[in-house]
Amino acid sequence: SVILAIESSCDETSAAVCVDGKILSNNIATQAVHAQYGGVVPELASRAHLQNIVPVVDVALKKAGKELKDVDAIAFTQAPGLIGSLLVGATFAKSLSLALNKPLISVNHMQAHVLANLIPDRKPEFPFLCLTVSGGHTQIVLCKSPLDLEVIGETIDDAAGEAFDKCAKLLGLPYPGGPLIDKYAREGDPARFQFPEPKIPNYNFSFSGLKTAVLYFLMNAGKSQIYKEAFTATEEERKKFIEENLYDICASLQNRIITILLKKFAKAAKDLGVKDLCIAGGVSANSGLRQAFTEMGQKNGWNTFIPEFQYCTDNAGMIAITAYYKYLNKEFAPLTVQPAARGFE
Ligand code: ATP
Ligand code: MG
Ligand code: FE
Repeated sequence: SVILAIESSCDETSAAVCVDGKILSNNIATQAVHAQYGGVVPELASRAHLQNIVPVVDVALKKAGKELKDVDAIAFTQAPGLIGSLLVGATFAKSLSLALNKPLISVNHMQAHVLANLIPDRKPEFPFLCLTVSGGHTQIVLCKSPLDLEVIGETIDDAAGEAFDKCAKLLGLPYPGGPLIDKYAREGDPARFQFPEPKIPNYNFSFSGLKTAVLYFLMNAGKSQIYKEAFTATEEERKKFIEENLYDICASLQNRIITILLKKFAKAAKDLGVKDLCIAGGVSANSGLRQAFTEMGQKNGWNTFIPEFQYCTDNAGMIAITAYYKYLNKEFAPLTVQPAARGFE
């Protein structure tokens, strides 16, 4: 089968070609326009998708050595995401389906992040557990088969990627701050500052307390994290403190996010007796998390799996591999299918 997949849920316009379960191309256009606003501006994202989608699909087909007439099915991200962004991909996919008279496959973006782990030759065995850590989600997912996934834990407030990005913003770093914190953390001491660990039951997560702690910590120029003593430093003192300690702050903050994530993930793996563990989503590109996750696996005798970088953040390759399993199962969508801002939550 030749599947053309489109991803347009947020600020990446992407197209990929999957031939018999192998990804032959994964073309991603990242929208630069949002950096100056400190976050994704939905209206601008929709417009950029509209501008990008035809050339992005063209290049994906060319890179795979395929033409539109070779395509057996068209897949697209149906949910979750920004509704205006999703509408562009959905409408484009529907139009192609209609014009080529080929079936349409609707894909859930969060399921696709998980199944990015089925792209390489070395795949996890079912049932496996996946820690999905992205800009909008933090989930522990029990995967019984490609199309049978169960969310067993998730964040009750901010996502892990959101924690990275919001703390980066407090440090005066541009959006998205996650990759920058990763970069600076490599030069810093992760034990220098102690940020709090939330006490949340089961396999759930919370990151909003950490964000607040970092805010007060910076407002006090590192002198204290005690909330009632907040705002004791002047703006100048705060800036100087950040400048002089940026690497250690990033390393300590990243270390705390990683320990919060992996503690719960390890608990789930032990409780459920699952031996194959995956990570997925944009934050799985984090070098500290990748290393700590791999070490955790080695220590406990678990097999660990991490997607290639291009399949961690938003990409159509993961949509294509998910669509491949849906194609095998003949799970097609009607032309009346609607994109949705929420789903799989
Ligand atoms: P969702 O998938 O939940 O709908 P999203 O699609 O916006 O959200 P992704 O594209 O999967 O999220 O991931 C983007 C997030 O990943 C951002 O928060 C970004 O900061 C974070 N991120 C990317 N690279 C790194 C890194 N190296 N270290 C930490 N965070 C990172
Ligand atoms: Mg993005
Ligand atoms: Fe995503």
